[in-house]
Amino acid sequence: MTSKTPTPQENHGDSDAPVVESLRVDTEAAREKQALAWTHTSRFLTTAAQLVHLPPNELPEIAFVGRSNAGKSTAINTLAQQKRLAFASKTPGRTQHINLFALGPKDAPNAYFADLPGYGYAAVNKAAKVRWQKVMADYLKIRRSLSGVVLMVDSRLGLTDLDKQLLEFVASRIATGEIRLLVLLTKADKLNRKEANASLAECQEYLGGLCTEESDVSVTLFSALKKQGVGDVAVILQEWVASAPVVPPVGDLPPMPDDEAGEDLSPD
Ligand code: GDP
Repeated sequence: MTSKTPTPQENHGDSDAPVVESLRVDTEAAREKQALAWTHTSRFLTTAAQLVHLPPNELPEIAFVGRSNAGKSTAINTLAQQKRLAFASKTPGRTQHINLFALGPKDAPNAYFADLPGYGYAAVNKAAKVRWQKVMADYLKIRRSLSGVVLMVDSRLGLTDLDKQLLEFVASRIATGEIRLLVLLTKADKLNRKEANASLAECQEYLGGLCTEESDVSVTLFSALKKQGVGDVAVILQEWVASAPVVPPVGDLPPMPDDEAGEDLSPD
């Protein structure tokens, strides 16, 4: 597992070090700029209430998931550098859909972002919660083109039981490396350094349990407000897409009748 913790600048006593360091910083900045230009191409493609209504897709797809209010819409909009791409709305019905965004050249998209319904919103009724569970579980377990999951977690709360239950839906696909996982500890601007390190360490400890030789699991602090981690995340997502295997453009199989989607995943 990797984490994007800030590392102190090392001084090797080498007279070339400042030059080398400045070249490295320039290269990293250029890489982030290029990745952010890519995320900026995000545009709304379609919305679906269920997995079967999503178009079959051979391009790598990256899903954004998280508890309601975790900062998911803000993170997507910040990555895309667009004000209202993802809709921050608590209205049930609007939030219960999977929204797909295309990225890359207009006539030749090269990836999709999928904004999944937020969970844990207390005002949603029982029927809506059960429906939500099924949509999420089906999508995360079955969507063939899914190559990465970005989980937004409020850095002050850490991983909640609902987040952990969601991770269980994809744990087996994460273990094989088929799906990568990046956890964003959001609203990091609300924490001091000590609290931020503690939040990072706690999350890392839990994620360690999901890691295998094949898995690609990482966690980073993120602040849309302070633009912390934004460039890094864009680079990571673009690398996921570049290294994703090609998936044949066939539809996703219908869910099995005894699917675990029936488990109760009610919000607290
Ligand atoms: P969603 O329900 O997960 O889509 O969450 P939103 O993106 O709507 O964000 C929930 C609340 O957190 C809003 O009031 C945002 O303004 C706030 N928020 C989101 N990101 C940040 C951040 O980086 N820093 C701070 N301080 N607040 C944030």
